[in-house]
Amino acid sequence: MGEVVAGKKPNVQHSNPLAQTLLNKLDYDQLTNCMRCGFCLPACPTFRETGVEPESPRGRIALMKAVVDGVMEPDTAFQDQMNHCLGCRACEPVCPADVKYGQLMEQARDAIEDHAPHNAAVQGLRRLMFKGVFPKRGALKLLGGSLSLYQKTGLRRLARGTGVMRLFPQHLREMEAVLPEASASGVVERLGAFYPAKGEPIARVALFRGCIMDVLFAGTNVNTVKLLSEAGFDVVIPKEQGCCGALHAHSGEMDAARELARHNIASFKAAGVDYIVSNAGGCGALLVEYGHLLHEDDNDQVREDAKWFAERTVDVSRLIVEQGRIPAFADHGEECTVTYQDSCHLRNVMKSSDAPRRLMRSVDGASFVEMKEADRCCGSAGIYNVTQPEMAGQILEHKMEHATATNARYMLTSNPGCLLQMKLGIQKHKPPYRMEALHIVDYLYERVKSGNSD
Ligand code: SF4
Ligand code: SF4
Repeated sequence: MGEVVAGKKPNVQHSNPLAQTLLNKLDYDQLTNCMRCGFCLPACPTFRETGVEPESPRGRIALMKAVVDGVMEPDTAFQDQMNHCLGCRACEPVCPADVKYGQLMEQARDAIEDHAPHNAAVQGLRRLMFKGVFPKRGALKLLGGSLSLYQKTGLRRLARGTGVMRLFPQHLREMEAVLPEASASGVVERLGAFYPAKGEPIARVALFRGCIMDVLFAGTNVNTVKLLSEAGFDVVIPKEQGCCGALHAHSGEMDAARELARHNIASFKAAGVDYIVSNAGGCGALLVEYGHLLHEDDNDQVREDAKWFAERTVDVSRLIVEQGRIPAFADHGEECTVTYQDSCHLRNVMKSSDAPRRLMRSVDGASFVEMKEADRCCGSAGIYNVTQPEMAGQILEHKMEHATATNARYMLTSNPGCLLQMKLGIQKHKPPYRMEALHIVDYLYERVKSGNSD
């Protein structure tokens, strides 16, 4: 053991390999920036659910620092606390010291993953999903086609009827029941790689289509392109783009996330666009952080291009409100109420919370009702609702209490994960009136007054 000086990265050699990796990977300045004020505690969903300090941002930062300083071992309890974090980043906007909590959590998970004792099956599954499916367009199309076949040919009914589905845990069965119709045909297959602006073009923008988004929500991608066109943008969809890398970054696969970022940056740079548009808060939040993700890249050009990419990435609602010609929207004659669940990453990282509300309020014949605690995580958080179903379920239950209190006909969101979680919430909690969860883009495009609904 070497020297530990207050405020300085310890000059020590830990005997525990994970502690040493955490020391190497964690940004010590960020750890010491935390002044233990506790302003972040009321914003943290896991602290609010449990009331326990280690389940709070301040507590998790203290645990990381204690391990790095050699005060405690990174035991299972430590790793559990890191895994319980939703990564919603609600702790960041309220932090007076501007602690980059999200980056600390990514570094901690990256270190934990380096030493994770996965068995061969888990290792194989991770490799398959992170390297063989999410980044590969061909594999995603195959997945979309197979899922579609399962949903349409009666195989799904067979699986349910024969009880095969009962082999899966309850939360996975519930998720399967709310999956939208999958498709092997994504936005490029449906619209081509270019879609012109209606009227004089304001700017040339590129759509980030996502990986799972283009398999499960290809219709939303199509509507995003058409809505952007209505708002005055020429839209290109670079065919070579791939997965953003967010699931990789949040699961401790940082090298793979960086590789995907380099690939995307090159694809969009070649398209020569003014903006890169995201319609999924979870993806967009990593896209706007590509500059940081690659800030230590050996190649100067890559670092510069990463900054170029991050500065141009914007959420679809915000681009339309701030730069576009906002289309006239009208409800279909049915006076109705809408409410909105913020995507945590859209709100806390991409800083887009006013723009979606402004668009929803602009729809003739619809009333927007603010849901209590709309800015709190819904429990989806990437794959958190699959890996931590108990906590995710608890959070969703509270969310649905607030949702049903709005009496809203439509529950809108700006992220596919949140959308599925809200669909799940509606299915499980059965509001006493008809409620439907929709992506905000689908809701808006269907209400464009002059809209072509081809
Ligand atoms: S608000 Fe920021 S400085 Fe205060 S305890 Fe939380 S992370 Fe630390
Ligand atoms: S990211 Fe969300 S769950 Fe994690 S510590 Fe921050 S507020 Fe809590």
